[in-house]
Amino acid sequence: MDITSTFVYGTHYWRPPNPPRDQHRRHLELIKTELGFDLVRLRLQWNWHHRRPKTFDFDEVHEICDICDEVGLAVLLEMSLESAPYWLEEQCPQARYVNANGRAIELGSQEATPAGGHPGLCFHHPAVIEHGERYYRETVRQFKDRDCLALYDCWNEPHLEPCWCNNPWGNMGDRLFCYCEASRAAFRGWLERRYGTIREFNDTWARAYTSFKQVNPPILQGNYSDWLDWLRFWLEELQENMHWRVRVIKEEDPQHLVVSHSGATPPVLPRANACIDNWRFAEPVDMWGTSFAPQAFSWDLATCAQVFEVTRSSAGGKPFWVSEMPGGASNIRGFRKSRMPRAKDYRVWNWLAAAMGSQGTIHWCYLAERTGHEAGGYGMMRADGSHTSRSLAIRDVAVDLRKHQDVLLAAKVKSQVAVLNDPDISSLLFAMEQSDDLYGKSHVGYYRAVWHADLNARFITPGQLDKIEEPILVIPMGLLLDDEAIERIVNYVHGGGTLIADARTGMFDTRGWLRPTLPAGRLAQAAGLVEEEMLATYPKDEAVDMPTADGTISKDNLSSAPPLDEVHLSPTIQFTAPLSAGVSAEEFVVPLTTNGAEPIGKYGDMTLATHHRYGDGHVYYFGTYMGLALEKNSLGAHEVMAAILKAHAEPTLRGHKLRPRLIRGDDASLLVVFNEDHERSVQEQVVLPQQYSKATCVRTEQTCAIEDGELSIEVEPEEVVVYRLES
Ligand SMILES: [Zn+2]
Repeated sequence: MDITSTFVYGTHYWRPPNPPRDQHRRHLELIKTELGFDLVRLRLQWNWHHRRPKTFDFDEVHEICDICDEVGLAVLLEMSLESAPYWLEEQCPQARYVNANGRAIELGSQEATPAGGHPGLCFHHPAVIEHGERYYRETVRQFKDRDCLALYDCWNEPHLEPCWCNNPWGNMGDRLFCYCEASRAAFRGWLERRYGTIREFNDTWARAYTSFKQVNPPILQGNYSDWLDWLRFWLEELQENMHWRVRVIKEEDPQHLVVSHSGATPPVLPRANACIDNWRFAEPVDMWGTSFAPQAFSWDLATCAQVFEVTRSSAGGKPFWVSEMPGGASNIRGFRKSRMPRAKDYRVWNWLAAAMGSQGTIHWCYLAERTGHEAGGYGMMRADGSHTSRSLAIRDVAVDLRKHQDVLLAAKVKSQVAVLNDPDISSLLFAMEQSDDLYGKSHVGYYRAVWHADLNARFITPGQLDKIEEPILVIPMGLLLDDEAIERIVNYVHGGGTLIADARTGMFDTRGWLRPTLPAGRLAQAAGLVEEEMLATYPKDEAVDMPTADGTISKDNLSSAPPLDEVHLSPTIQFTAPLSAGVSAEEFVVPLTTNGAEPIGKYGDMTLATHHRYGDGHVYYFGTYMGLALEKNSLGAHEVMAAILKAHAEPTLRGHKLRPRLIRGDDASLLVVFNEDHERSVQEQVVLPQQYSKATCVRTEQTCAIEDGELSIEVEPEEVVVYRLES
């Protein structure tokens, strides 16, 4: 099967011990004939197949492959080292991951690793690398010549494995890793290579060490420098680990593609302590993907679209797909499950992913799970192998997608907005707040405005700031910028770009040290203003966090303290341009002293929003966090942002209440129109590009009239309709 010339549709099938060994033929035949899928994914787990140092057991996997060969299903072989064998733990107990509270984590089972061996062993120990590599090489040799093999997934949801979802009873110290002696030594070596001399290092961390041997990673509050470097170290280590896995597989089998896929997609759902940088992880592989769990996190349609845009952006021009789309409800705890997906969700999710450039869908998973917290969930089929309304809906949408794969595979998404995402800012927020939630919310808020303006976004990293072709650049909560990034941003504006930025942009340098004047460097000139001191704000109706003498924060209310000035209670900023609207300040309020910029938003005498022309471009600067106001769905914030986006970028199609997207192929195109309203059908006229004269509904195959370049479209609540457009 040629993955690159097919819109792939499939499902995850096997993760030991489910489905049971004596049921494979029945299920695989059903997947091929009744569901019509092309591909099944099999998760191989190290400890399951490598039970003694010199013995491998792949018999059940070969049985599954025999049936796949026979019925004509392609196999995605997922390999994993995040389930180490127990004999290796016995040999090297010092290789257990150690958390910040000093506890070594014994191997065991976990919801997504029911067969045990989780979370694996720390890669800073040579024996783990040696035996892990032997296992990968043996696996590839076993399967590389099988007819059914389509490609390898070399790492499921890469992150620092022990950091999430493992210890429901733990505190944050139980979710920080790895503090084993070998990891500490590797970190010291990394610092020495980065800084060269202890003096240079001391100047950055503000310390008085005399040797790198004295340095330990942060376990308590630390300085921002400590956390920035500790998390940078892990991001680089994990990227190198990805390189190693890809290299080992390709040395044994240069023919087949190697993919991987993200579990979380920062800046949506950032988890700084888990050390996820999908731009780094996608770099060594041939194709990228993402897990996608909208009901687990109650994502609206805009955030679903954002997850796909982030995935496409991190893939960096390589093909991407949805590696895990839910098959059923997902777990939170035993009784607590997400809502059950409905038939229409599969139409909406799949067409949304396709509109954002995805080249295929794999479901997680086929059969309801049997063990632990996931038991009874995730499957599109019930545990007894019978169909659900979901499996039948999935079958139908898969047929529609593949019928139009000529368009889907040829299409390229054109973005009008670049959005800066810097993993350093996630790390900084983690050090500041013990969570990077505010950074995630800032991004989610801004993207909602982009989505409702019918624009597409490309998420970029600081290294890509000199290659922006989009007319608009958004920097949500840009609290840390290096000097080079500032120069690139200023050059972008001077050359005609429009910058949208929040308060305290460039507040910290790469060391994590406060810059004395803001906006940082030449950005002050580009924005035409100087920032005054920041003032913290609190929601009007909430108790204020009060520091106490023992260092904790209490939720004591204002009764024990002098009343706060109004400015500290999320004051409303009155905008006068580009339109009149009120926007509540979020987190910091920073008065702006203009130096050429035009005030566009004020609270009393304070200027809190400005517009400035610089060179051929524009800067909109907010003395607060507009992304957070947008995330709270403040109407005024959305009105202001919609007007700014409309003034500087033109969408391909523009909707009113409907969200139309065009997937432009070589000869034909697909018009995909979403209705986000939860209760009401919406009918609208959509103005199409001129070249189309014929529209055919993809589901009904009925032809509709295009009159004066417009198509009248009605979409039911939370639904999608798709038309094939031809000239
Ligand atoms: Zn370690």
